Amino acid sequence: MAAACTLAKRGHSVVLFDQADQIGGQFNLAKRIPGKEEFIETLRYFEKQLELHRVTVRLSTRVTAELLAGQSFDEVVLATGVNPRLLDIEGSTHSKVVSYVDVLQSKVSVGSKVAVIGAGGIGFDVSEFLLHESVPNIPDPDAQNIVDFFKTWGVDTQLKRRGGVEGLRPNFANASREIWLLQRKKNKMGGSLGKTTGWIHRTSLKGHGVHMWSGVSYEKIDDRGLHIVKDGQSVVLDVDHVVVCAGQESNASLRAPLDALGIRTHLIGGAELAAELDAKRAIDQGTRLAISI
Ligand SMILES: Cc1cc2nc3c(=O)[nH]c(=O)nc-3n(C[C@H](O)[C@H](O)[C@H](O)COP(=O)(O)OP(=O)(O)OC[C@H]3O[C@@H](n4cnc5c(N)ncnc54)[C@H](O)[C@@H]3O)c2cc1C
Repeated sequence: MAAACTLAKRGHSVVLFDQADQIGGQFNLAKRIPGKEEFIETLRYFEKQLELHRVTVRLSTRVTAELLAGQSFDEVVLATGVNPRLLDIEGSTHSKVVSYVDVLQSKVSVGSKVAVIGAGGIGFDVSEFLLHESVPNIPDPDAQNIVDFFKTWGVDTQLKRRGGVEGLRPNFANASREIWLLQRKKNKMGGSLGKTTGWIHRTSLKGHGVHMWSGVSYEKIDDRGLHIVKDGQSVVLDVDHVVVCAGQESNASLRAPLDALGIRTHLIGGAELAAELDAKRAIDQGTRLAISI
């Protein structure tokens, strides 16, 4: 979106393809996380910019090398994002195992006891999502639960209390699910989260009673649940679902076939590097590339 808008601003004729029926890629997952509703506004911004700069948007169109070969584009920018990394243990195809994408798109009805494998940004976000019973199905700006936010974090909107703060501790509502957030690494949970916001995510999950276990090794998944080893002891977590948040892998599958056809490509965003969640890097890269073309 950023590359398309900047290219169009500079006078290029731009077509933006997406296989989905809406623009925005992973922002459409991020916007569903309680507290990350601002992504709705980012999407609204890009939608307007694409329209203002007359980018031709072709949705529900899965691009293949053949599709592009028949057209005469001077440059092709591949911003095809990532694929979720799959779990590689016994039982990883068991019906209890679900991907974070299906969970965040409400394609699965998640039970009341859940193990989340992987405590990176997405593992934290999925846990937060699962803690809130009434997550709006189709969030829009009106659906942002500002009143709940103020209540939870003790913001006195009347400014009658000292400093506009009610009480010294956040007031977390009862969690709708029991969640185990697990990671293989022994380090601090959520160590990779943003410096300014990581403490908020940790406080929220802790306040909602999420079990945050590090240094865990995964054995298998079966009808009894998730079998792990923790502190040298075998433990079976009797959960309804295991949500896999075990990282992401770049999806650059179009590059080789396009190279073979002699079509010049540029790789940006998650398609180039699937590291931590970093939309800023993707937007920066897309914008700089567009300026260089
Ligand atoms: C739950 C969640 C929370 C996040 N929170 C944050 C956050 O707080 N801060 C932050 O900075 N980042 C966050 N991110 C990460 C951020 O969304 C990504 O960094 C960003 O979306 C990457 O943009 P991208 O353009 O590289 O790829 P993507 O957003 O993955 O978009 C790729 C697009 O390519 C399309 N596509 C793929 N193949 C084809 C094809 N063959 N033909 C047509 N279309 C195709 C896909 O449909 C998709 O729309 C979050 C991500 C998730 C999942």
